[in-house]
Amino acid sequence: MEIRQIDARYVAPTYRRNDIVLERGQGSRLYDETGKEYLDLGSGIAVNGLGMCNPAWVQAVQAQTAQLAHTSNLYYSEPCALLARALCERTGMERVFFSNSGAEANECAIKCARKYSYDRYGAGRGTVLSLRMSFHGRTIATLTATGQDAMHDGFDPLPGGFRYVPADDIEALRAENAGDVCAVICELVQGEGGVRALDPAYVRALRALCDERDWIWIADEVQTGNGRTGTLYAYQQYGVAPDVVTTAKGLGGGLPIGATMFNARTCGVLGAGAHGSTFGGNPIVCAGALAVLDQIDDGLLAQVRDKAAYIRDRLAACKGVRAISGMGLMIGIETDDASAKVRACAERGLLVLTAKDKLRLLPALNIPQADLERAMDILTEVLA
Ligand SMILES: *Cc1c(COP(=O)(O)O)cnc(C)c1O
Repeated sequence: MEIRQIDARYVAPTYRRNDIVLERGQGSRLYDETGKEYLDLGSGIAVNGLGMCNPAWVQAVQAQTAQLAHTSNLYYSEPCALLARALCERTGMERVFFSNSGAEANECAIKCARKYSYDRYGAGRGTVLSLRMSFHGRTIATLTATGQDAMHDGFDPLPGGFRYVPADDIEALRAENAGDVCAVICELVQGEGGVRALDPAYVRALRALCDERDWIWIADEVQTGNGRTGTLYAYQQYGVAPDVVTTAKGLGGGLPIGATMFNARTCGVLGAGAHGSTFGGNPIVCAGALAVLDQIDDGLLAQVRDKAAYIRDRLAACKGVRAISGMGLMIGIETDDASAKVRACAERGLLVLTAKDKLRLLPALNIPQADLERAMDILTEVLA
């Protein structure tokens, strides 16, 4: 049987797949089973931030695989410790909990916020506020935190303790004064919800309100993190710091990882036995992530900003583009019939994504300029 038929018969039908079987990749180029080449502006949904088969990442993962693949969290191991230190030194956060996905990173953040509040104020203050059109994951709690009613349909009863407020509306947040709130969770740029960056004035006011009410501010940087927006984490462009930062996707360079970073206020909340993960902090995954983080230096971040400006210039001059949104190399394009355009691009050898009814670009941070120019030639042709 053909791969498509085996998959269609045996894999749970939760994904609407593109009609392409990918077989291998190198940098920002992917190849299907017939050898057809694609330029990739999706990066495995912001995962392959350094492209496919990044040499330092491959080397780190291979070496660690041959040395020590797994230890359990009953023992120390070097890659986990070094990755936690590197993340803290680059962000100013104090400690890190490792898991295996974005949803798990957010689960940990939610547990931390509730425990912080419980330890100080007792029961009845466990509500987490999230923004309309947010996306925080697919587990039952992070799905509930996700502010999109359509995604909740059919999964009742959802856990209690979540409420939603409109994005960029500080008065709506201020009106949440019933005394039952412990935290606010938000993406700095809403990804799945349509590539919408939050207003800096709103984010600063949100930070101030969290301080005033002793709420934990959780920044979900699963998609915006790891260089995607032009700084290591997007909050670093807003001039304020969260109490908890979650990340995943691009940190692993292609292997599953989640990281929940705590500041001085939250780093002591989850003590021994309060949380855990069998695979969290896995040596192979952490060795790979260290190789990724090492490469997201000032030079690469400057490249991200330059490439983002180049893409925006090309799009601004392009017919068929109604508006451009996002930050850095997280780009939303308002246009007609985005899904048809995804298919038209694929026919021409270009892979792009959608977010709601927009086209979405998440190219590798290090996409070679020549590949990017060729990709934009195809994209602008399709858009026009
Ligand atoms: C992808 C994503 C998640 C979920 O990550 P998983 O690894 O799929 O669990 C959570 N939050 C945001 C902002 C995301 O983009």
